[in-house]
Amino acid sequence: MQRLLASLSWDNSYSRLPERFFERVSATPLPDPYLIAFNQDAAALLDLDPSAAGDASFLAGLNGTKPIPGTAPLATIYAGHQFGVWVPQLGDGRAILLGEVVTADHQRWEVQLKGSGMTRFSRMGDGRAVLRSSIREYLASEAMHGLGIPTTRALALFGSDEAIYRERVETAAVLVRLSPSHLRFGTFQLFASRGESADVQLLADYVIDQHFPELLKLPAAERYAAWYREVVDRTARMIARWTAVGFSHGVMNTDNMSILGLSLDYGPYGFLDGYDRGFICNHTDYSGRYAFDQQPKVGLWNCARLGEALHTLVPEASALDALESYRTTFEDEIDARMGEKLGLLMAEEGDLELLHGFLQLMQSAKADYSRTFRALSHYDGADLTTLLPLQAEIGDAAGLLAWLERYDTRLAHEQSVVSVRHGRMLAVNPKYVLRNWIAQEVIVNAEHRSYAMIETVRALLAAPFDEQPAFERFAEGPAGKDVVEVSCSS
Ligand code: AMP
Ligand code: MG
Repeated sequence: MQRLLASLSWDNSYSRLPERFFERVSATPLPDPYLIAFNQDAAALLDLDPSAAGDASFLAGLNGTKPIPGTAPLATIYAGHQFGVWVPQLGDGRAILLGEVVTADHQRWEVQLKGSGMTRFSRMGDGRAVLRSSIREYLASEAMHGLGIPTTRALALFGSDEAIYRERVETAAVLVRLSPSHLRFGTFQLFASRGESADVQLLADYVIDQHFPELLKLPAAERYAAWYREVVDRTARMIARWTAVGFSHGVMNTDNMSILGLSLDYGPYGFLDGYDRGFICNHTDYSGRYAFDQQPKVGLWNCARLGEALHTLVPEASALDALESYRTTFEDEIDARMGEKLGLLMAEEGDLELLHGFLQLMQSAKADYSRTFRALSHYDGADLTTLLPLQAEIGDAAGLLAWLERYDTRLAHEQSVVSVRHGRMLAVNPKYVLRNWIAQEVIVNAEHRSYAMIETVRALLAAPFDEQPAFERFAEGPAGKDVVEVSCSS
């Protein structure tokens, strides 16, 4: 049965932890809010009626003017390493967790409002989020989901004409996001750094109970180590998947690392246009700490910090084991994903060199990452017209032809049927990714009060592997487009 927001089954399991884990705080309503976007795909996850947003109670409930019965709004406390620097206390400075919706099939989805006003953890901030960054997060979470990458989801976006001061005057928006949990590595780090090991355990028990119930059957002595290893594994796999689709997160601070291995907190992220393994998407990342090719290493560093925070629960040898496995997990995942992108059925010696040869051609030509792999997905050595789109991206005719010769030989080993290989490759090499210029065009429209494009692009990116001829232009690279620098300002 599908319902309105207030008639969903609400709970807030986190609010049953001791009060020192959070602050009870209600949203500060935005004046005269209006709905900007509503994602029916995400609504379905909650058993929410597809027309729920049309009811006045929807905005009233989420804006905090008419609190939703059964919710227990709160802001969580956490800490974290920001750009490698330890910050002893952070917390939800502009996010409020309403609670969890418990669905008919017993799934729990946390509903969090991002940009809904100040909390005890706001520090110097105003508790708000600007429309621009809220749209970017809304689209990125759904684009990542479309690509099959574990991520938080976006249910809705609403705004107000309230002025927000960043580098310029902007307007406010609230992103309504969903996740099984929004807990971060930094939540554990906070209690550990204060020597509150009983609270680290309480939190670990809560997370295992809610999200890793299969581990409850293990004796406690093994349970925490198994759990930590699972978090490390998920993190490694997530980052391998980011790498395969050319995604850069931009701010991989430990407070932005999900304890469930989900992609979390989309700010100054970027998808590769021209391939550049050293790509830095965040304009304020002066040292390139979070550059595209640094992400695997940073993921490991972050997992090590989590391991330290869990040192009273996970024996050092087990933690080191888990960290040791990060590299192989990452490599297994990236090898599988890149092998798929090349259309290879089985792994063979020499595949890595083959891949690196292709990436090197792309790197030298700054060839568009997604377009080039998409072009390769149509390549057939027996049909020279299929060479042209590849040449258009890579240019270097001699280098490309030499590489294709190796590729043809390699493909011949497994005697795959060309059309079947094309089908497999087209299902893993996206036609559409959330390029900076696309997000920017959506934002410019929205800043002129034209919001329809948000849902158009969201729906397009929900099926990024499908040919959608009406939207061909969204498969274009950034040449001639309006591209902006993105930073932590949001
Ligand atoms: P982020 O860079 O978005 O991951 O945020 C880092 C920390 O700063 C988190 O604790 C946020 O809650 C907080 N924060 C970011 N922007 C604001 C804001 N405008 N008001 C209050 N807190 C904020
Ligand atoms: Mg954050």
